[in-house]
Order: sequence, then C-alpha cells, then structure tokens
Amino acid sequence: MGQPPIIIIGAGISGLSLAKALMDKGQSVLVLDGGRVGAGASGAAAAYLEPRTGSGGLRAIEWESLARWPTYAQKVAEATATDLDYRRSGLIHVAQEDGLPRLQREFKQRQEAGTHVTWLTGDEARAEEPALSEAIVAGYTLDQVHTLDARKFCSAIAALLRQRGGEVLEDTEVLSIAADGPGLVVHTSRGDERAAKVVLCCAMGRNHIAGLPDDIPLSRPVRGVMLDLAGDAARPLVRRMVKHSKGVICPRAGGRLLVGPTSEKGETSLAVQETVTTDLLEMAARFVPAVRTLECTDTLVGIRALTGDGALKLGQSRAVPGVYYSLSHGGSGFLRAPVVADELADYMLDEAAPCPFISAYLSRLTTA
Ligand SMILES: Cc1cc2nc3c(=O)[nH]c(=O)nc-3n(C[C@H](O)[C@H](O)[C@H](O)COP(=O)(O)OP(=O)(O)OC[C@H]3O[C@@H](n4cnc5c(N)ncnc54)[C@H](O)[C@@H]3O)c2cc1C
Repeated sequence: MGQPPIIIIGAGISGLSLAKALMDKGQSVLVLDGGRVGAGASGAAAAYLEPRTGSGGLRAIEWESLARWPTYAQKVAEATATDLDYRRSGLIHVAQEDGLPRLQREFKQRQEAGTHVTWLTGDEARAEEPALSEAIVAGYTLDQVHTLDARKFCSAIAALLRQRGGEVLEDTEVLSIAADGPGLVVHTSRGDERAAKVVLCCAMGRNHIAGLPDDIPLSRPVRGVMLDLAGDAARPLVRRMVKHSKGVICPRAGGRLLVGPTSEKGETSLAVQETVTTDLLEMAARFVPAVRTLECTDTLVGIRALTGDGALKLGQSRAVPGVYYSLSHGGSGFLRAPVVADELADYMLDEAAPCPFISAYLSRLTTA
C-alpha cells in the first residue's frame, strides 16, 4: 500500500490553491468538501485583486501575489480551456460630496505608498465611465487592480487537480480527525480516509470538526452578500470596476455586474432578507443610477471567516503534529492565494523552509 495522501478539508480558494501547490511539488492530494467546489465564501467573491497600502507583511504578500496572478490564472485557464474572465482594467474609485474627505485620504495613502494613481474631477470620472452619477464630485484611477470570475476559477482549479491525478470529493463532510500511529484518520460522512497530513482550509467549518486541538484557532463569521445583475453584453454599463465607500460595482462577462458586498459581523444565515438586497442596489445606484434598470439574477452569499486579530493564520498544531491550517483569509483569500499556497506548501514539506512572505503569519513547530 502506498503512502496515504495529504488531505485538504475545503474546496474553496484556500484549499484548492494549496492542493495545486502541493501537487506542483510532487505530493498526492485528496480534497474533501462537505458541499460543492467553491460553494463557500469563494463562490460569492467578487474576486477583485486590490493590494493594500501600509507597510505590514500583508502588503508584501498582496503585491507579490498580484504580480504572480496573471501567470497563475493563465496556466489554470490554458490547462482547462476555461475563460476565467481575467481582467487587468483596474478600478475607478469615486465619491460624492459626503465621501470626499475619505477619498482624498485614500488617494494620498496610495500616492505615499508609491502606487500610480490619477486624480479625476467628477467630469473627468464621467468621461472615463459615462454611466457614473452626476452627483459624483471626484475620483481616482488605480490601474494595478485585476479581477476574475471566482466560481469559474474554483471549478477550473478543481478540474486541473483531477486532470493531474488528484482527487476532489464533494458532498463529503469531515466530522472528526484523530491521530492514528504515524498518520491521521479523517472520519467523514462517507467513511474513513487515512492521511499523511491534514490541512484545514474550511473557514468557519473549523469550529464544527470534532477532535481538533485548542491550538488551532476558532473562526468568527462576517457575512458578505453580492448581487449578480444581468446586463447587455454589447453595451456593458461600466468598463472597469467602480469602487465607492461601501463597496464595488464589478463588470463581468456578458455585460453582467456584481454589486456589493455587505460586511455583516456575526451573521451566519445564508438566507438574505429583502432589505439587504434593496440596500445594496440603492447604494450602487447612488454611483451608477442605471443599475436600477438591471435584473438581479442571483444573490451570492458567503461567510468570510476571521480569527483573533483578523490576520491570516497559517501553521501546524503542536498538540497534533501533522494537522495544519490555513485560516482567517477574511476578505482577501483570492488576492493572496498564489503566495500563501506556495509558501505554505513549502513549509508543509520542510519545517525549516524560509517562507519569506508568510513567515510573520506562520506558526511553526520549531523556532529558528
Ligand atoms: C461577498 C464576498 C466578496 C468577496 N470579495 C473578495 C474579493 O474581491 N477579493 C478577495 O481576495 N477575496 C474576496 N472575498 C473573500 C474570499 O472569498 C475569502 O477570503 C475566500 O473565499 C476564503 O476561502 P476559503 O477557501 O478559506 O473559504 P471558503 O471558500 O469558505 O471554503 C471553505 C470550504 O470548506 C468547506 N467545509 C467547511 N466545513 C467542512 C467540513 N467539516 N468538511 C468538509 N468541508 C468543509 C465548505 O463547504 C467550503 O467549501 C470575498 C468574500 C465574500 C463573502
């Protein structure tokens, strides 16, 4: 009997990208998901890739990840013949009078961080995007922002894993994990699986799996809702992503627009009240009034999971070595995926691997 695989719990962006990185490094993987591929937060994401300002470690991860994304996405797209709707058209960040001080502050922060941004008057913003409201007083463009179709990406990466001999099992909920000699046994709703190592990439699901040690952090929920609006493929309302103080209006293939997201702390329900969708639509209409004319064809709901201070949490349990975790991806799981997956995979294969970008967020068994 061969060596059991590395089991990854969760077929969202964190689990799928890690599985790919491990396979790239020669490992055999089994991904288990209690639902469908990309059915968690990953399937609800706008998946805009906008690195932050500031000077912390997350900034370095995010800029490096953005630099890797075009090649990363291209390889997945080519191998699976999928159009990921990957766009590098940047964003236009706009404000009405009440949002002007914040817009100016953010513009200044971007400039001070050395990012190329261009300030626009209201009229200049409307010249860039004619559907913008007359009430917009200013904006700025930021070219270094990419977007992709989150659901298509998750499906494509799962297809790629299968193509290369990895397994991705849906409707297979992990109930508990236990140490078993030198390895681990994972009890699922469909029976037991043996594993050389296990990685928790299951966001809020971490809180419900039995047998996990206390040194793996619990997650707390922040619900996000986005509306998927049908549009005219020949005449899309906006060309590039429009950002405002409460969210984004994100163009997608076929003239569709994603509008949102909400950020509702503590909310776990996947049933969305009508007031939530009405508020999202009205908020978007303040900036692009014609969104009111579009039909809402889908409501996307996802629970972002955060832990402790909300920063990324990566590592290995001291209490049960061999159980790893990739948690607390919050609102940036797509953006950071190429770097996080690659370095976490390195760490899983060599405790002493340098992991230059993620080291501040990585809890190692040994200290250097
Ligand atoms: C509305 C919204 C908009 C967003 N926009 C962006 C954005 O523009 N850019 C960006 O970078 N990020 C964005 N995010 C954040 C991003 O979606 C998350 O950071 C990312 O999806 C987290 O990925 P994950 O794989 O950790 O979690 P998830 O995608 O939630 O995946 C976890 C998976 O684990 C499975 N699972 C749970 N428990 C078990 C169990 N016991 N057994 C088996 N499987 C289990 C679930 O079924 C699920 O599929 C957004 C999120 C939301 C909600």
